[in-house]
Amino acid sequence: MHPDLQEIILSEEQIQRRVAELGRQITRDYQDRHLLTIGILRGAVIFLADLIRHLDLPVAVDFMAVSSYGQATASSGVVRILKDLDETVTGRHVLLVEDIIDTGLTLSYLVDNLRSRRPASLRICTLLDKPSRRKVEITPDYNGFTIPDRFVVGYGLDYAENYRQLPYIGVLKPEVYRR
Ligand code: 5GP
Repeated sequence: MHPDLQEIILSEEQIQRRVAELGRQITRDYQDRHLLTIGILRGAVIFLADLIRHLDLPVAVDFMAVSSYGQATASSGVVRILKDLDETVTGRHVLLVEDIIDTGLTLSYLVDNLRSRRPASLRICTLLDKPSRRKVEITPDYNGFTIPDRFVVGYGLDYAENYRQLPYIGVLKPEVYRR
């Protein structure tokens, strides 16, 4: 275990087993349709890369980067698009792939934004869900794990741009935040 971690809450084996299951479920649900997966940078990159290798479907991959306008407007759910899609969404079957849903504000903005581009269908796949923190009603179509309200890192999730490469998900020691 990384020395900055206090505890591992999801092991590499647990994550890999669940990602494979999600891949099989998505493959069944979409059958032979062509899927446009959209990863939300940067946290979803690792999950997306593993997930698509379990999809037995024609798959395209694109990314969006967003940033929240900061604390003052966090409750408004206003986010800024830093990088938009290269692909066209209109008429496509879109799967939005997120690392974690917390308040739901980021995702609810993205869903509204993508819906306005008239996809044939739009679903949400998240690795982690923290439903206790929700500020807007949003339920993922595919969810890897429901977790309690704790700040987690690893498997794509960072703290100050660190720990994304860890193959497991864990909780940092309190002293790491004081550095
Ligand atoms: P929401 O708009 O749902 O509140 O925010 C979701 C985003 O907040 C995630 O994509 C992620 O970037 C960040 N986030 C929320 N909870 C955590 C967490 O426990 N760990 C990390 N590293 N990021 C989180």
